[in-house]
Amino acid sequence: GGSLPRPDRTRIMIVANQKGGVGKTTTTVNLAASLALHGARVLVIDLDPQGNASTALGIDHHAEVPSIYDVLVEGKPLADVVQPVTDVEGLFCAPATIDLAGAEIELVSLVARESRLRRALDAYEQPLDYVFIDCPPSLGLLTVNALVAGAEVVIPIQCEYYALEGLGQLLRNVELVRGHLNPDLHVSTILLTMYDGRTRLASQVAEEVRSHFGHEVLRTNIPRSVRISEAPSYGQTVLTYDPSSSGALSYLEAAREIALRGSGAQQSTHATVEGP
Ligand code: ADP
Ligand code: MG
Repeated sequence: GGSLPRPDRTRIMIVANQKGGVGKTTTTVNLAASLALHGARVLVIDLDPQGNASTALGIDHHAEVPSIYDVLVEGKPLADVVQPVTDVEGLFCAPATIDLAGAEIELVSLVARESRLRRALDAYEQPLDYVFIDCPPSLGLLTVNALVAGAEVVIPIQCEYYALEGLGQLLRNVELVRGHLNPDLHVSTILLTMYDGRTRLASQVAEEVRSHFGHEVLRTNIPRSVRISEAPSYGQTVLTYDPSSSGALSYLEAAREIALRGSGAQQSTHATVEGP
């Protein structure tokens, strides 16, 4: 791919939205692959016990594989669980196995339970341009660990009814973590996913999101695309599965925007969404 500016410090992107099925995992793996194809070194951390990001990257994550569970709960070095993604140079994954489902409870009684992922990343010595953390669909300790570990929150929003429902809770949690545990935390990026430009609903949702948030919303929307939804069953991102598809091109364009705008938007993160 063409060259994009590389960040001078590792940008840690937390892909979060406590709603399931809005495109968190799809956005995580496809943005990460897009940036790697542009020459960046990128680590995906799968923080969802479902392990969908691991699957989509073709990474082995059966129960015995060293995983992010061992890092969070057992204190294993992150470097011991990271695997290279075979068909994309510069892309790596720390997989999730099913035992991560128990971590939400096991973490409660551990020392520094909110900052175990941050410590693991601090101790990771390989150079990285980006880390993408794929969060589970909840606001529990796993997501809190992600919010403490990075600076930039990326929120995928599905262009559907009730798109903004629940976002207020996420934004309040971001404020809480920012206030108490991680002063650098801010919402840097909002991405509209599964956008169907033919429907009035999609454009209404897009307009509503753009009026609630400012320039955090990327200009690029991700279209609803069969190719995007097929790719994971081949253990691939859409970038290698069908590089010329509209889905691949839109993720490349969204990744380009993210790279070009830098970690920005720092001063304008106080958008609020009224609760339902
Ligand atoms: P989440 O991680 O938020 O639960 P996923 O990324 O797993 O959401 O997406 C939910 C479902 O929607 C998956 O089956 C995925 O393949 C599909 N999907 C995501 N984005 C798109 C898209 N742009 N077009 C078509 N299907 C999509
Ligand atoms: Mg997911």
